[in-house]
Amino acid sequence: MAEFQYDLVVIGSGPAGQKGAIAAAKLGKRVAVIDRREMTGGVCVHTGTIPSKTLREAILYLSGFRQRTFYGKDYVVSDRISARDLAHRVQRVIEREVEVVHHQLRRNGVTSLIGSALFADAHTLEVTPETSHSFRVTGEHILIACGTRSASTPGIPLDGEFIFDADQLPDVPELPRDLIVVGAGVIGLEYASMLTALDIKVTIIDQRPALLDFVDREMIEALSYHMRRRGATFRLGETVTRVERDVQGRVVAHLESGKKVHGGALLYTVGRQANSDLLDLPAAGLSADSRGRIPVDEYFRTSAPHIYAAGDVIGFPSLASSSSEQGRLASNHMFGVNHRRANAELLPYGIYTVPEMSMVGRTEQQLTAAKVPYEVGVAKYEELAKGQILGDETGLLKMLFDPEKLTLYGVHAIGDGAAELIHIAQAVLAFGGTIEYFRDTVFNYPTLAEAYKVAALAGLNRL
Ligand SMILES: Cc1cc2nc3c(=O)[nH]c(=O)nc-3n(C[C@H](O)[C@H](O)[C@H](O)COP(=O)(O)OP(=O)(O)OC[C@H]3O[C@@H](n4cnc5c(N)ncnc54)[C@H](O)[C@@H]3O)c2cc1C
Repeated sequence: MAEFQYDLVVIGSGPAGQKGAIAAAKLGKRVAVIDRREMTGGVCVHTGTIPSKTLREAILYLSGFRQRTFYGKDYVVSDRISARDLAHRVQRVIEREVEVVHHQLRRNGVTSLIGSALFADAHTLEVTPETSHSFRVTGEHILIACGTRSASTPGIPLDGEFIFDADQLPDVPELPRDLIVVGAGVIGLEYASMLTALDIKVTIIDQRPALLDFVDREMIEALSYHMRRRGATFRLGETVTRVERDVQGRVVAHLESGKKVHGGALLYTVGRQANSDLLDLPAAGLSADSRGRIPVDEYFRTSAPHIYAAGDVIGFPSLASSSSEQGRLASNHMFGVNHRRANAELLPYGIYTVPEMSMVGRTEQQLTAAKVPYEVGVAKYEELAKGQILGDETGLLKMLFDPEKLTLYGVHAIGDGAAELIHIAQAVLAFGGTIEYFRDTVFNYPTLAEAYKVAALAGLNRL
């Protein structure tokens, strides 16, 4: 039998690669992770989750946004907020996160190999560091966790300064006074909404007629309302055909309908392209779809049984949260340990718009389409002492439940802390609980979690 240098070689050190590598190392396997030096931690740490969420916190802090209920619309912590002020906090958090990743890999005895990898054959990867010669490394198993990059489109002249994608946004040197956002997916809406908190006028363009169709409509109505109040304009059902800069240096987006939208800058967030196109997949007997996504079975195995793929490279749901878990499950499976896969219906979504939205379980649209009768209980943050203390008078939590058996179907929340709050519902759903649990439980006071009790009582009153 061939002698391999490693039991597992992982391509990519994002959440899927890290957790896959560490899970295998914990089983006593010899593991190596390959990534470029400046990308330790993946898109998640460098251009995706961590920078965008840190940017959001920096904006909410420096703009005094959360304090405006008490001190007026004009309240700001810092009068002139520059891109550099925001970047400072982002850089600090990235540096710390990179340290954490390095430390975790080292502590678990995982070897870090620096460079870009591609397949030489089904067990061999050629690794090319930026400044030295290529070398080869062999693995009995391989985990592809190479993630994605922003998809590019001909006709969108990205320059990283005035016309940029989500990967470039954290490094943009100047904040514009008005911004065009093309693509109203989660990433586009998160950035658009946080920038409106800085009084940047945002125009959001998307060819789809509705925002985030997997999210409860009431939450979307609330989000659109708050964004519009802060000066956002939505151009939905509109397609951008071309983008250019005019003689004054302003960015102009030309729409198929003949309209032109002008702005100081343009953020282009239309989908992601998986990095598998750079791996020479055919050398390993593998292939991917047009967006680079690699098909896998329920255990994250590709068509080659010793090669697994996890994280954004396999497509939906493309979240850091699920990618980590997929990496861990993939490694466990390849070394004969089978853990139960989380129920996909109980996957929580945290959407870090301003205000934040989160959901778990089924939506009203889904229940109606499936002809499942349901009842609704709503708690408004303004009814909660904690909502008043925080100054969040607009948040709400809505629960959907079976009017006969009182079983919980789903919870949808918008407002401060929504992404944290939702895990209470996730636990109750996982155990098949009823909303009587919320009615009969004592919650800390004052907390936002009390919203569960208020919503349950409101829902029971409707029966
Ligand atoms: C703006 C933005 C905001 C986001 N916000 C959230 C959020 O709030 N919550 C959430 O859960 N998710 C969020 N996501 C999604 C999340 O970042 C991804 O789901 C997650 O990073 C995917 O992890 P991954 O391990 O698949 O790959 P990635 O994090 O993409 O990492 C892949 C790594 O593979 C490396 N690589 C690629 N090709 C090679 C090669 N040939 N050789 C060596 N190395 C290679 C890359 O350099 C990279 O470091 C966000 C994404 C973006 C873009």
